[in-house]
Amino acid sequence: MIYWDYNSTSPLRKRVKEKMASALDAQYANPNSSHSLGQSARHAIEKARRTLAKSMGCEPGELIFSASATESNLMALWGHWMLRSQQNPEFKKILASPIEHSSVHENLLCLQEKFGAQIVFTPLDKDGLVDLEKCEKLLSEGGYAFCTVMGAHNETGVIQPWQKLSEICKNAKVPYHSDLVQCFGRIPFKISESQISTGTISFHKAGGPKGVSVLYIRKGVQIEPVIRGGAQEKKRRAGTENILAIIGAEALAEEIEELNGVFSTSVKLARDRLEKEILASIPSAKIVGKNAPRIPNTSYIIFPGIKADAMVMNLDLQGACVGTGSACASGMVLPSRTLLQLGYSETDALGAIRFSFGPENLVEEVVRMTPLIQTAVSKLTSAAA
Ligand code: PLP
Repeated sequence: MIYWDYNSTSPLRKRVKEKMASALDAQYANPNSSHSLGQSARHAIEKARRTLAKSMGCEPGELIFSASATESNLMALWGHWMLRSQQNPEFKKILASPIEHSSVHENLLCLQEKFGAQIVFTPLDKDGLVDLEKCEKLLSEGGYAFCTVMGAHNETGVIQPWQKLSEICKNAKVPYHSDLVQCFGRIPFKISESQISTGTISFHKAGGPKGVSVLYIRKGVQIEPVIRGGAQEKKRRAGTENILAIIGAEALAEEIEELNGVFSTSVKLARDRLEKEILASIPSAKIVGKNAPRIPNTSYIIFPGIKADAMVMNLDLQGACVGTGSACASGMVLPSRTLLQLGYSETDALGAIRFSFGPENLVEEVVRMTPLIQTAVSKLTSAAA
């Protein structure tokens, strides 16, 4: 199988698997128990927290473990909203990009529907980049509970100027949350070089385990704890930590420099070669965000007139797994919300395929895959005619 769906999730890297396997028998105790086995688990978790903090350029005490990026996003968004709206009922607005991942977007809609939050969507350019000047102007009008704009987009791969926006938010005294899920492992970054208040990191898109995420909370930033219960994570997120997944995340973080290196060289080379070959053989194809800064592993291509779900099935039958931006609801395929927001037609938004590579997808796979894509496109185009 050719697996080009890393932005959805990825296979475990070898070292991650090995470390998790050896911890299976050794680390079963509850890290919150005071006996020696519990303390050994606690020690493993705190060691992982230090390694993770180093890999993303922050302090260990600024990271809290959760069970998924969805959960980290929820804790940040609700946590900022609850604290800020309680501090000042005038803080009713939320500045957000209209193309956030559904784990952010749906929570914003919920805050709007249930608590009267007013969502102000940031203007975007045709590649989906936020307009910093307009953001600054909007924030200067006051009344914002917080701002949220992701680091890199899960469909297009376009990297937002999140560090610059974080400075603007800091100057406006508005907390800023950034969903950095698609950044970790793909592009080097140091959280300490930004001013974000909170940030979500995930590991399973880059060879790490599912079932764990970290929420970064800058020292001194307060958010209301949402997942309440036990006193874990200094009462900021209740629930027994997933120690095996945390150990797996640590193993991934230990390889972060090597991973960033592979992504910026061979993975980028493979992605660029794919785009060149597709454009040469299918001139109607449109590459979304081609001229914007993008994470090196992602290529989001519209094949006009083709239904993405049919293309996924066709490629699957030929031995290749790829993704789409469309979603399924009640058995209906819905066009990508992102592409509609970027001004593409509904037909284009139903015909986009996301190719997202991992470290082992190199040029040889592109050479094998290009004719498969060409065959699928010509077959599906003639079927539609
Ligand atoms: N944020 C982004 C940008 C994502 O791409 C994803 C997953 O696709 C998530 C959040 C949610 O991740 P999870 O499903 O692991 O909670």
